[in-house]
Parts: sequence; structure tokens; C-alpha cells
Amino acid sequence: MAYVIVDTCTKDEECIQVCPVDCIHPRKDEAGFEEVPHLYVHPTDCIDCGACVPVCPTSSIFPLDEVPEEQKQFIDANAAYYQARAS
Ligand code: SF4
Ligand code: SF4
Repeated sequence: MAYVIVDTCTKDEECIQVCPVDCIHPRKDEAGFEEVPHLYVHPTDCIDCGACVPVCPTSSIFPLDEVPEEQKQFIDANAAYYQARAS
């Protein structure tokens, strides 16, 4: 399982500061930061610690099984971002 970021994310990087395994990207210093609409959680590197959830000012991070129905497309969007990075 992994956590998922949805489109209400404002890219303020609060979650990146607390993630113990650096599985949220892109950071401001990485290519593509300006272009992406929101940040993404790596689908397998995430260790499900939940540390990112309380620091998010826009409540944009959900455990996989709690992603709201109308935002379920972002489950694939988070994974697809890393597939594109790897290719
Ligand atoms: S749940 Fe933990 S490991 Fe996963 S993205 Fe959030 S802070 Fe990182
Ligand atoms: S803390 Fe929330 S709003 Fe900020 S970058 Fe992370 S997911 Fe986006």
C-alpha cells in the first residue's frame, strides 16, 4: 500500500520535510517541479508511516484505501509519475 496525493496539493513541500524515506517528488530543486500540478508519492517506496498527513495544510494526502471516490484517479496518477521518471 502507499499514500496518495490528490489535486488539492499546493506544492508547499511540508510533507517532503517529514517523509523519512524521501518518497514524495518532485522537490523544488528537481526537474519538472514547475510543470507538475501537484506532488506524488512513490507507490512502493512509501512505508505507510502516515507522518505526512497531519502536516499537510490542505488535507491532500490519503492512505490508498481512504482516497475519496471522486479523487481515485490520483492513485494511478501518483504511480504514473514514477513510471515516467523511470523510463
Ligand atoms: S506515509 Fe510516510 S513514507 Fe509515505 S509518503 Fe507519507 S511520510 Fe512518506
Ligand atoms: S503538504 Fe500537502 S499541500 Fe503541501 S506539498 Fe505535501 S501534499 Fe501538497
